[in-house]
Amino acid sequence: MATQNQEMSCKELVELLTEYLEGTLLPADRLSFDEHLALCEGCRIYLDQMRTTIRTLGRLREELIPPQAKENLLRVFRTWKA
Ligand SMILES: [Zn+2]
Repeated sequence: MATQNQEMSCKELVELLTEYLEGTLLPADRLSFDEHLALCEGCRIYLDQMRTTIRTLGRLREELIPPQAKENLLRVFRTWKA
């Protein structure tokens, strides 16, 4: 994951969510992640939902974020920003 001096998109945030929740995100990426969360209510809600799911299951599994769920989420974001 390359460090970039540009804002993280919702799509990038979703792709990094697993690493973020596992605490394995690089410091630079984590900073971008937190900055995006501060500005984006949709991603905050999504993160909350993921944390609730993880608490319920007691662990994090990659299949909790199936591609179809990502697509649905990103479609919602696009609608909100339109
Ligand atoms: Zn977002």
